[in-house]
Amino acid sequence: MKYFSLFTLLLVVTASAAELRVSTDFEGGSAKVESIDQSARVIRFIPGGDPQRGWACWWYLRVDGAAKDERVMLSLAGSDRPSRNNGQDTGKPLAASWAMPTRATFSTDGKTWRHTAPGKREGERMLYEVTGTGGPLWIAWGPPFTPRDTDALLAEAEKKLPAAKLFELARTRGSRPVRGLHVNAATTPKPSGIWVQARQHAWESGSCWVARGFTEWLVSDDADAKWLRGHAEIFIVPIMDVDNAATGNGGKEAAPRDHNRDWDDKPVYPEVAAAQQRLRALAKEDRLAVFLDLHNPGPGDLKPFFFTGPPELLTEIGRANRENFLDAARARIAGPFALDPKPHLTGPTYHPLWKQISGQWVNAHGNPHTMAACLETSWNTPYSTTEGYRTVGRQLGQAVADFQRGKVAQSRE
Ligand SMILES: [Zn+2]
Repeated sequence: MKYFSLFTLLLVVTASAAELRVSTDFEGGSAKVESIDQSARVIRFIPGGDPQRGWACWWYLRVDGAAKDERVMLSLAGSDRPSRNNGQDTGKPLAASWAMPTRATFSTDGKTWRHTAPGKREGERMLYEVTGTGGPLWIAWGPPFTPRDTDALLAEAEKKLPAAKLFELARTRGSRPVRGLHVNAATTPKPSGIWVQARQHAWESGSCWVARGFTEWLVSDDADAKWLRGHAEIFIVPIMDVDNAATGNGGKEAAPRDHNRDWDDKPVYPEVAAAQQRLRALAKEDRLAVFLDLHNPGPGDLKPFFFTGPPELLTEIGRANRENFLDAARARIAGPFALDPKPHLTGPTYHPLWKQISGQWVNAHGNPHTMAACLETSWNTPYSTTEGYRTVGRQLGQAVADFQRGKVAQSRE
């Protein structure tokens, strides 16, 4: 009898699946696990971010214990913690839709990211199904991109192109390095200055993949990329809000200030102050040509679009340049993502602090010919993958080259 029970016990242990475990103790990780139903294989969780450090819509977790071909359900609800908006506590949680892409993103090696099948909305919750491999699974709101990925991207770019050099823009409030790429290979006198930055809002990981696509294109053998490198000095900063990207916080509407409402004379964030200093230096030499700030928009924005400031604040040449740039971008960003042909206007009706938004600051402190805009690439579409985002980045680079080449042609006329 004794032996029999031991045998039964062994049988039960062997037959039952391994325990599902969730971890978030890695760069960019974020989730608060509510419960794990080990027999139904359901993990219930909410985003783990601290709303004082930005909108708690980002989530990124690792699951261990899923056997090969075993199906595991991730049941997501919105954060239950009161959010901030327009620089104030709202007393209410953020709308859950910000945290709930139709398709979540997953990886079986922590490097290659794919979409899950569309999730199922059930009341307040969204259910995503993933299939185990016997190894760990990583599942996230969108394709993760952390400071470590910046370093890998910059190292790769340096290897490809000797004129591409890593630079440290600043150290964050949390003493983390903010790194970027400086490409200084122009052969023309007084080359145009081009500045591209992403991820002022830490949850918007897709913006980094657009920056990555831009970077990969820029250092490639593409003829347009070569032309641009020959005529411009280019800076790319793939992650501006490194602190919140590293800690898995949302960043947007963080206390004391939203990163993209920090563009005034007394910025709180050292990386904003450092960017302003470099942009001012380019403007002083009358060669600040293009400033692009990369973001992800709202859940319902299914076409990428540009935010631009009120045209009446620009000079005549500034307005013409913006139109020419938008024409170039419309022609290039045509598929699979098709750019919304109409830019959205930032101004007093968009946000009370609109003058402290990066593009507006650049227009106010740039040259009369400076073209500044913010590109919002949709995150809630079937194309919102690493591949889709990188394609937009490459197309954006081509649009910048077309735009700059148009100006050179004009000056020769
Ligand atoms: Zn944003």
